[in-house]
Amino acid sequence: MVPSPFMSAQCGADFYLKLENMQPIGAFKLRGAYNAVAALPDDVAGVTCCSTGNHGRGVAYAARQRGLRAVICMSNLVPQAKIDGIRALGAEVRICGTSQDDALRASQDLAADQGFVEISPFDDPHVIAGQGTIGLEMLERLPDMGSILVPLSGGGLAAGVALAAKTINPDIRVVGISMDRGAAMYHSIRAGHPVEVEEVASLADSLGGGIGLQNQLSFPMCRDLLDDTILVTEEEIRDALQVLYFQDRIIAEGACVVGMAAILSGKYMPPSGPIGTIITGRNLDMDLFQRVISGQDVRLGDYLLKGKRYDQ
Ligand SMILES: *Cc1c(COP(=O)(O)O)cnc(C)c1O
Repeated sequence: MVPSPFMSAQCGADFYLKLENMQPIGAFKLRGAYNAVAALPDDVAGVTCCSTGNHGRGVAYAARQRGLRAVICMSNLVPQAKIDGIRALGAEVRICGTSQDDALRASQDLAADQGFVEISPFDDPHVIAGQGTIGLEMLERLPDMGSILVPLSGGGLAAGVALAAKTINPDIRVVGISMDRGAAMYHSIRAGHPVEVEEVASLADSLGGGIGLQNQLSFPMCRDLLDDTILVTEEEIRDALQVLYFQDRIIAEGACVVGMAAILSGKYMPPSGPIGTIITGRNLDMDLFQRVISGQDVRLGDYLLKGKRYDQ
């Protein structure tokens, strides 16, 4: 956990960044994936998963440690940098269709046909428990923390962090933040059941994809444990990426800064007490990042995100 003087000044409370971008695979997903792979019996044929990139990298890393085969199924929306990172860990990558749902189906088929164990990126008790260790560490460091802002996609991270943090301090506020284009958990919580959303390109590519219509754990946990869920725009993510870079001098994925974006845009007004957010990963496309940082226009699928130069 490192302090952010700029963000602290913006919100009038001590603001901390939990730097999961410094994990060996460049993202927090190692925690859950490692915990799930470690819990497997010795005689499995291999492991498989669907992934927006970082869970696949965590599974590949953990499988290599145990000498297991790993096949990672991903959609064609996943940046090349993430595919390369997974291959470098010795796992097989399969590009299956145009959405996380397509990748999930491919992974489930592989599990059924070849006896591989499928590890969900978020709807798995070992994965949720692993991600929850972030909440334990944050409260160990700062027991009087007032709120935690959690990037929210399938909700394994938010479910684990909220359960851990609220078990230690029931008064803490845990808020999930997603991008407004394709926020499956946000809309599912409002609908009262898991719903499908259209998956589109976003600066926060790690937050894309559905939560699974058969969701067992992360949906009810996020519904019951999160105090609020908030949406931010691509423009707000762009501005927060620039703040993290120019003020905190940190390079991270768009998915990481949604919590900062919620504060900077005035969408989240923190109650008293220190605030923390999780800088979830750094596995980004560097060309895209350089364009965003230098204020150039960026094309995200059929959406043109206008460039804006950061005024230091
Ligand atoms: C997976 C991921 C998230 C979201 O985690 P969920 O458990 O799916 O909600 C956030 N940021 C990054 C970088 C990720 O890889």
